[in-house]
Amino acid sequence: MGTEKRRCMICGKEKEMTDAICDPCKAEIRGEAIDKHKQIKKDADREFRKEGVKPDKK
Ligand SMILES: [Zn+2]
Repeated sequence: MGTEKRRCMICGKEKEMTDAICDPCKAEIRGEAIDKHKQIKKDADREFRKEGVKPDKK
């Protein structure tokens, strides 16, 4: 029990896995998610600077 042949919903390969996504795809998704998150944060920072958040707003 535990591992059974399933089709990965990402790469479509049949593998023995406990999840709907195989481990390599999971790792890839996690890495991509982190990269995207970093990119979003980068963009947000840039946007922040572009907007020119002034400390002496009041
Ligand atoms: Zn996969």
